[in-house]
Amino acid sequence: MKLAAGIKEISCSTLKTKEPMSSHTSLKIGGPADYFIIPGGSEELKELLCFCRNEFIPLFVFSGGTNILVSDKGIRGLAVKLNKAFKNIDINGSRVTVGAGMPLPMLAARTAQEGLSGLEFAAGIPGTVGGAVVINAGAYGNCMAELISKVKVLTWQGEIKVIFSNELDFDYRHSSLLRKNWIVLEVELELVRAEYISIKQRMEELLNHRRKNHPTQPSAGSVFRNPPGESAGRLIERAGCKGLRIGDAQVSQKHANFIINLGRARAVDYLEVITRVRKRVYEEFGVMIEPEINIVGEES
Ligand SMILES: Cc1cc2nc3c(=O)[nH]c(=O)nc-3n(C[C@H](O)[C@H](O)[C@H](O)COP(=O)(O)OP(=O)(O)OC[C@H]3O[C@@H](n4cnc5c(N)ncnc54)[C@H](O)[C@@H]3O)c2cc1C
Repeated sequence: MKLAAGIKEISCSTLKTKEPMSSHTSLKIGGPADYFIIPGGSEELKELLCFCRNEFIPLFVFSGGTNILVSDKGIRGLAVKLNKAFKNIDINGSRVTVGAGMPLPMLAARTAQEGLSGLEFAAGIPGTVGGAVVINAGAYGNCMAELISKVKVLTWQGEIKVIFSNELDFDYRHSSLLRKNWIVLEVELELVRAEYISIKQRMEELLNHRRKNHPTQPSAGSVFRNPPGESAGRLIERAGCKGLRIGDAQVSQKHANFIINLGRARAVDYLEVITRVRKRVYEEFGVMIEPEINIVGEES
């Protein structure tokens, strides 16, 4: 109650209690967050962060919820979702400054319309800019890091800082932001001029490839990182895991690196599928594949 009263003092956004995280994840899995809020802007977010830090309240910040598996017990403390208020966009020549809550497909479509190339690969990635920067999202041989010049972050100390790309330690599905726990507020991208028609064509090609090869059921995209020089999906398929099912969590028949929710999957089912897939791949090939998705929340 102290938390609710404290938050109400600093924020005019609606504070929800026991909010089911399954309503905010692409997997449709996840127990309740004790407290849940969608802040109205950076200042409010900063106040919330400082309040949580001073009161020792756990804080979980996320955006699209397309790369997280939330436990069945849910999130303790405050879950903060960045969306509406963080969708700002400013295009100046080939330089694009965009808020963390902007969905990638929307950004890719908008920049294409402006005759700016670079984000074709991101048109089919359903998350937001913030989540994509933190894990250096990528596809079809391209990734966010290639386009990022600067990132505006909110540090755990409540400071707003602008960090240059070369300080962010970008690598395959990695950035130093993950370790530092900084919140991405805004990103500056450097794109290149190109004909709208060729950008659109490439985008359609990649979207068609996704439609053909990815399952349509709820998922979090690829569950495992590709080991060096290998495809995790191929190893999983060759280990005979396609169709492996616990409860309603199943390795997709269409793409072995996707674990889908057939309806009522629980996080424990999903985690059990992950464990079994890792074991089988290890037994078959001696390779321990590592999850790419973020597993969060109180353990069961
Ligand atoms: C069908 C499907 C296809 C996909 N295809 C791809 C693909 O081709 N390539 C790829 O890389 N990914 C893919 N993904 C995964 C996912 O869409 C991307 O990783 C996306 O960038 C995640 O963004 P998000 O906003 O949903 O992040 P979330 O799931 O909300 O969060 C992911 C992590 O980032 C952190 N985070 C989120 N926002 C912020 C922020 N503003 N500041 C600090 N931390 C933050 C969260 O705490 C969490 O740890 C796919 C997912 C699905 C469901």
